[in-house]
Amino acid sequence: MPERVFVVGDAAEDVVAQRVLSRLGAVEVVNLDSDDDPLRAPSGAGAGEESSHISLGKRWLMLKRYRGKWLKGCPGTLGHVCCNLWVVNPGEGCPLDCTYCALQHYFRRNPTLKLFTNTGEMLKEIEQRTSAEPRRRFRICTGELTDSLVFDHLTDLSLELVPLFARLPNAVLEFKTKDCEVDNLLTLRHEHGGKTVVSWSVNAPEVVEQDEALTASLEQRMNAAALVAEAGYRVGLHFDPLVFYPGWKEGYCATIRYIFSRIDAENIAWISIAPLRYHPEQQEIMLRRFPESRLPLVENFLAKDNKLRIFQPLRFEMLRFIWKELHAVRAGMPVYMCMESPAAWRSIVGGPPLAGTELAEIFSRSACCRV
Ligand code: SF4
Repeated sequence: MPERVFVVGDAAEDVVAQRVLSRLGAVEVVNLDSDDDPLRAPSGAGAGEESSHISLGKRWLMLKRYRGKWLKGCPGTLGHVCCNLWVVNPGEGCPLDCTYCALQHYFRRNPTLKLFTNTGEMLKEIEQRTSAEPRRRFRICTGELTDSLVFDHLTDLSLELVPLFARLPNAVLEFKTKDCEVDNLLTLRHEHGGKTVVSWSVNAPEVVEQDEALTASLEQRMNAAALVAEAGYRVGLHFDPLVFYPGWKEGYCATIRYIFSRIDAENIAWISIAPLRYHPEQQEIMLRRFPESRLPLVENFLAKDNKLRIFQPLRFEMLRFIWKELHAVRAGMPVYMCMESPAAWRSIVGGPPLAGTELAEIFSRSACCRV
């Protein structure tokens, strides 16, 4: 729950802002005329100042209107295979606090959490854009710049998004979360039409405990996943980031066994796997904010996309191991590597993702495959 809420200009008139404020109850509210982030770092601010602002930003919330284009292709990453994901961002920043989170670097100069109050315009744009290109298939995720469900109890956004996607013939919605807040989704069990996938980022319990502060435990996530699966939703899993630590093989093996003791492999829409990678400047933020984390200490190299990645032989070994373990659960499991190099695809699978396989739903750009 935020300690202070900033409401910017005309956002105060929006239903979303009024709903959020009424649900927050007794909280300090500050009205602002300007869109500027109250924690905006001055140019030349060092990593020390940025890091303390990042921590404070997770306790402050801005309610404002978004002025740009809502629906965008995921930028992917240079020289890596792209999975054609589309993204919309109903907010920016996340109150949860994973040591490796890329958002702490991405929003380091504007770290206050943001919720956009004109999401009605976002819904309109999704509808217009997808109907203007009926042959294109849109897989649209709300969890790129925030956690998809962590604010849902304040905004009720899922109550509008899920029925919208049920009506769109060429689009699938993906929520991506580390939370376990699914009450709204359960009320929509007869309205989702199989067009919403609820995805959890998952990790070995020791990683969740040490590097994913404030998130739901793996058990809580899987309890929620079992509930939405029972309500007819397909479930996505993102093993992202895969982390190297002593005993990682046993840890991930036990995690996969546990997950599939809680959810049926038949309910899986897709699974991504992606080893840890981050911008070099982020390393300093991680070291300052989480001095006890061992993640920045793993042997890394600077990849083509200017991100530090786990040393290649180890990275490929991790990918190959998880790929095999997941396919041991079910042969046709729709597993893909997120933002991996063509070399990784060649080494682990023998080549790039092919049309006509279980990965068609993820990699196809046309509307002819399953939606
Ligand atoms: S849950 Fe996701 S968005 Fe939130 S802090 Fe963790 S990595 Fe970042």
